[in-house]
Parts: sequence; C-alpha cells; structure tokens
Amino acid sequence: MMRSKQQTLGQIGEFGLIQRAKRIFGLPARPGLVQGIGDDTAVVKIGHNKALLYTTDMLIEDVHFSLKYEGFFDIGWKALAVNISDIASMGATPTWGLISVGVPVGIPVDNVDKLAQGVASLARKYRVGIIGGDTVKSPDRLVVNIALLGEAPAQDILYRHGANPGDALFVTNRVGEAAAGLAVLKDRWQLTVNGWPTLRKQLVKAYLRPEPRIKESVLIVKNKLASSMIDISDGLHLSVKLLCGRSKVGAKIYLNKIPINPRLATRDPLQSRQWALSGGEDYELLFTVPKNKIRKALTLFPSGWIGEITGDKTVKVLDQAGQEVMIRNTGYEHFKTT
Ligand code: ADP
Ligand code: MG
Repeated sequence: MMRSKQQTLGQIGEFGLIQRAKRIFGLPARPGLVQGIGDDTAVVKIGHNKALLYTTDMLIEDVHFSLKYEGFFDIGWKALAVNISDIASMGATPTWGLISVGVPVGIPVDNVDKLAQGVASLARKYRVGIIGGDTVKSPDRLVVNIALLGEAPAQDILYRHGANPGDALFVTNRVGEAAAGLAVLKDRWQLTVNGWPTLRKQLVKAYLRPEPRIKESVLIVKNKLASSMIDISDGLHLSVKLLCGRSKVGAKIYLNKIPINPRLATRDPLQSRQWALSGGEDYELLFTVPKNKIRKALTLFPSGWIGEITGDKTVKVLDQAGQEVMIRNTGYEHFKTT
C-alpha cells in the first residue's frame, strides 16, 4: 500500500487507473453481465438471444478538441461518432443515446445549438435516438459526454478477445489521415500554400468529421469474417496491442501493407507511416480473419490485409525486408508520462 500512495497518474497512466477501478468495482451485484470493463463496450444479456451494449465517451476542450480550429458542429458530430464507433467495433447496432454537456457561461447560445445539431445530424444518419442527457455549468472548458446503447444478437458480437495464431489482421480503410489533418489544423504541417488544397481538405475532414464504420461492421458480421475486432481510436499499433493482449496472442504488422492515402504518402513518406501507426482518431475497425475467410475478406476489403496473428504474444512491426521496426510512440494514453 505504501508504494501505491507514491504512485502518480503519470506513472500508471490511463490503463493503470482503469485496472484499479476494475478491482474496486469488482463483480456486479446482479446477473446478466457478458462483458464488463476491458472491451470497447460493456455487454449484458437482455433476452434469450439478445444482448444490450453500453458505452460512453467524453470529450474535453483542450484535451480532445480545441475551439481554435474546431467548430461546434464538428465537436457534436465527433462526440457521437466516437461512441457509434465503439458499438460498430462490437459488430452491433447503435440505438439510443444520452448527451451531457458542461458549458462555460460565456459561450453563445447559437454555438451550443450548433453542437446539438452536429450530434443530431449524425444521429439521423445512423438512426440513433438522442433521448435525454444533462446540462451543467462548467468553470472554463467545454465538456461533452455521450452514453450510447446498442443491440445485437448475442452470437454476432465481436470482442477484443477471440483472435487466434494464423488469423490475418485487417483494417477497414486507410489510416493516418486524421492525425495528418490535425497536424494541418495546428499549422505544424504545411499544405495549403504548396498546392495541395484537395489533400488538405480530405485530411482535415478525416479529423473533424470521422465516419463511424457501421457499414463495414455490418459487412463483417453478415459474412462472419472476424474472430475479434476493436476500433482504432488511439492509433493502429496500440489497438493491435490491446486486441492481442485480450486475445493472449501476438502479431506481425507489415509496414508496407498498411493502407495510406497515396498522395499523403508521396508528400511525406516517413511522417505518413508514423501517423498511420501511431496517430489517433482514425476510427477504422481492426479485425482478425481466420484462414478460411481470408479470400472473402479480401474481396470486401481489398487493401485491408496488414499482417497476421502469431502465438508469441509480442507485437512486431516489420519493414519490406522483414526487419523489425522500432516504434517509439505507440499511440495515445491519457496521463502517461513515462
Ligand atoms: P475506448 O477507447 O474503446 O472508448 P477505453 O480505453 O476508454 O475504451 O476504455 C477501456 C475499458 O475501460 C472500457 O471497457 C471502459 O468501459 C472501461 N473504463 C474506462 N474508464 C473507466 C472507469 N473510470 N471506470 C470503470 N471502467 C472504465
Ligand atoms: Mg474503442
């Protein structure tokens, strides 16, 4: 106990903190739990063959977004998109949501409306009902939290566990565009003046208006393609590690197979690979495909094959020559300083 008193959040990080919460909450005092802390959503049984999925994600000004380069509509859109993405990553259908906002008193009413309109517009697109929430005053930063329900037949749900050695590793679409978009918005990566207006627009959109991969999730479930799945919220490399950790397996990621926007790759080969591996907020789905389904998966996701699951419990990134590439910055974890 002495030791834990001296521990800082910087040392244990977000994941260490979640482990502690998991111990404190322990097993629920009621039956029906299928999946508790540790996956993209919680899962509980609500009928003979029916499961309810439940997830929540919070966005905080100057941690997850900045009013300097994000509009209120964008923030609302993203607040729902990240939650829908977690439901999609379980192979389920999003259904009902609650939205809670903490609003600094100086923010114009119109802007708060725009935030709600961003949520409402994505909600309509994916037939999610926003049916309540909470509104409070915040001292100086805007806070948005959405809690979202989903449902699925119990046997269709895909978890982070379930991957087996020999399975192929797939992503639904290109990765790294959102991180590039953020760099552009932060003015850390110049594009406009150099005659790349279309690419600039594409990257910024990938960051501001991520599209949750519901369509792809439905395809994966319908064709029974996957043995496990996760969404890539905090970087591809980190997501592979999380999925492998829960499945008690390892993986090889082939760097030259990772789908990257070709114009982005041309403009900055090294940086684009780094963004693809460790940049966050892509919200693509990462899934594992058993051998007998690989051919079908390739017809649906022709450039999705990026690696394979191994039995040795380590995640390696390999270059074209088969040499291991060292990854310094694996992805995003809150608090972590070491
Ligand atoms: P995601 O990035 O997919 O939203 P997170 O990394 O936020 O997932 O969370 C991982 C797991 O930990 C989830 O099962 C989530 O419900 C759980 N979790 C996160 N924070 C807490 C907390 N403070 N108390 C209990 N469970 C938590
Ligand atoms: Mg997730």
